[in-house]
Amino acid sequence: VSFDFAGRLVRLQDLMATRGVDLTLVSVGADLLYLTGYDTHPSERLTALVVRTHGLPTLFVPDLEAPKVQADGVDLVSWSETTDPITLIADAGPLPRRVAIGDHLWSVFLLRFQEIWASALWEPASGLVGDLRLVKDEAEVDALRAAGAAVDRAMKRIPDEVRFSGRTEVEVQRDLVSMTLEEGHQVSEFCIVASGPNGASPHHAVGDRVIEMGDLVVCDFGGRWDGYFSDSTRTFSVGEPGPEQLEVHSAVLAAQEAARQAARPGVACEEVDRAARAVISDAGYGDFFIHRTGHGIGLEVHEHPYMVEGNRAVLEAGMAFSIEPGIYLPGRFGVRIEDIVVCRPDGIETLNLADRRLVEVA
Ligand code: ZN
Ligand code: ZN
Ligand code: ZN
Repeated sequence: VSFDFAGRLVRLQDLMATRGVDLTLVSVGADLLYLTGYDTHPSERLTALVVRTHGLPTLFVPDLEAPKVQADGVDLVSWSETTDPITLIADAGPLPRRVAIGDHLWSVFLLRFQEIWASALWEPASGLVGDLRLVKDEAEVDALRAAGAAVDRAMKRIPDEVRFSGRTEVEVQRDLVSMTLEEGHQVSEFCIVASGPNGASPHHAVGDRVIEMGDLVVCDFGGRWDGYFSDSTRTFSVGEPGPEQLEVHSAVLAAQEAARQAARPGVACEEVDRAARAVISDAGYGDFFIHRTGHGIGLEVHEHPYMVEGNRAVLEAGMAFSIEPGIYLPGRFGVRIEDIVVCRPDGIETLNLADRRLVEVA
């Protein structure tokens, strides 16, 4: 997949001009990856992309990282171990009046920039770059679709290849991580295996609990594909499920379907949440659906738009997000079903298609 970094930088500059921002500075993370294709780890050595409304943006990197930088459409400036990069950046152009600063810039750098540009007005760069990232272009949708198909292939292998009973969550997690990578993800980003009572904790990662017959197990995992994430959840039954487990699972399944039916361009994000929540409340489990229905996804696993009560933002073609209602019964068990969907002009495309029913595993 190839991405239009130059086009993104120009769109950012246009947006800055419209909103009266004369300098945008982002450091390592999704915004930098989105604008330049460059990805590295955050560290005490500052990496910063500085974009002004006119001219070529400048990417400041430490000398020792310059050889690995691949970023078209920017001026590369590397700084030596004895240079102060903050002064270097400040001296490179006129004093900005309004600065959009990367949300993930470490505060140790932010405090110095605020000192050196003391008269400037500040705002988070997510207000600009985030607006661009919100609507995915076709290359981005292709990457999300490939990531979704890969996590589906792993999910479909679970009933045949993964033994649950008598093994710990950590052991099962190791299998799921391997399959995530075998199916083509470059990185396995997260992997929740929440069995029995642990399933009632939505963000339980794993522990050394030994999985037993009769458990439900929430498996929520995903990885990175050309920078873009997959994220899917299915709940499995170890052996035959009991009547209450089936009842809870079918309520979650109906809620997940209702939210997918509701989601389309022109609908407010909170309406997607309401569609799922109404089904779960009607089934009598409203108090046990303790999180929003979904989150945007792209170069970050969680990003805008959020499917949550109070978010009146309206869905547009190109927005990608999860639909993942759940019911969590403390001390007992939990169920969650999660797919990633993308808004298309006339509806949604669901990127995760693995069986959503309560599949039995051994
Ligand atoms: Zn989550
Ligand atoms: Zn998930
Ligand atoms: Zn998710």
